[in-house]
Amino acid sequence: MPKIHQLSPTLSNQIAAGEVIERPASVVKELVENSIDAKSSQVDINLKDAGVTMIQVLDNGMGIDEEDVPTAFLPHATSKILTVKDLFNVHSLGFRGEALASIAAVADVTLESATESGLGTIAHIVGGKMQNIEKAGSRKGTQITVRDLFFNTPARLKYVKSQATELGKIVDIVNRLALAHPEIAFSLRHQDKMVLKTAGHGDLQQTLAGIYGVATAKGMLSFQGEDDDFKISGYFSLPDTTRASRNYLSLMINGRYIKNYQLTKAIIAGYGSKLMVGRYPIAVVNIEMAPLLVDVNVHPTKQEVRLSKEDQLARLLTQTIKARLSSENLIPEALHNL
Ligand code: ADP
Ligand code: MG
Repeated sequence: MPKIHQLSPTLSNQIAAGEVIERPASVVKELVENSIDAKSSQVDINLKDAGVTMIQVLDNGMGIDEEDVPTAFLPHATSKILTVKDLFNVHSLGFRGEALASIAAVADVTLESATESGLGTIAHIVGGKMQNIEKAGSRKGTQITVRDLFFNTPARLKYVKSQATELGKIVDIVNRLALAHPEIAFSLRHQDKMVLKTAGHGDLQQTLAGIYGVATAKGMLSFQGEDDDFKISGYFSLPDTTRASRNYLSLMINGRYIKNYQLTKAIIAGYGSKLMVGRYPIAVVNIEMAPLLVDVNVHPTKQEVRLSKEDQLARLLTQTIKARLSSENLIPEALHNL
């Protein structure tokens, strides 16, 4: 009897799911990113019990063809890249083809989808096993309902924290996705109550108002900067409007929300000594660069990325913010000197 054997697909998917799907907020992130990639202009999210009982994401994007529905749930199944060359020229948020397979491996998933031309399809998958697939209505777009997350992986369920914590994480990620995409109207409901709503008119300051409040958004400065490799733009708060954590700084690279300590530090450095100790600004920083300059394939959740010219980008950020802040200060100073 050989001692080495390949894991069953079900088991290997459950293991893989652990890398992508840590908690309810990861499901929300992956599903909403799929809706964004599908060119939706509206994305509505409904939650029950902070996502543990139910997460539903409804979009009006391009939908999935009937013949592609079963494939969409297979591990490493994607419509977004085909060759190694594509891997270094990624224009979509997804490309690893892991999300739907991972979510379906650890939950009860119903997908209903229709493309512009085709009839709709409805599929029900539980713990990675396709239960049923049939024809459905033809409203263009996709609705995915994820129930009983981690029902078959109790060890993972144990790591899910209180509803307040999990809901907080979901709101946080939806905020960032909405800030990265002011052209999309987002809504987030928890136990049928509206938690967040953005207009989707394409105006970043308006989206900021929807998330941080009108007064805060109005007090923020817009900025723009560029060098040979990078284009940056966005909004940041004046040194008198700060928060006690770095969580209100959102960095987007080519429309993807990312985390990067050095770039965050570079933004803060732009304020020089104007910030009080332990206080951090509110900012949304959009960075555009050639996809070749950023490797988004270093981590399964793609929130950490590798940048080839990080120092150069950090300098551009610091200098642009510094210059913008001092141009703002010139006016009161000039008045003062009269
Ligand atoms: P990835 O996003 O990395 O391609 P996923 O597992 O998230 O992998 O999704 C698999 C495929 O299913 C996608 O490539 C896409 O073709 C399709 N898909 C998933 N969600 C949607 C959606 N909301 N609208 C349209 N197509 C979708
Ligand atoms: Mg995806």
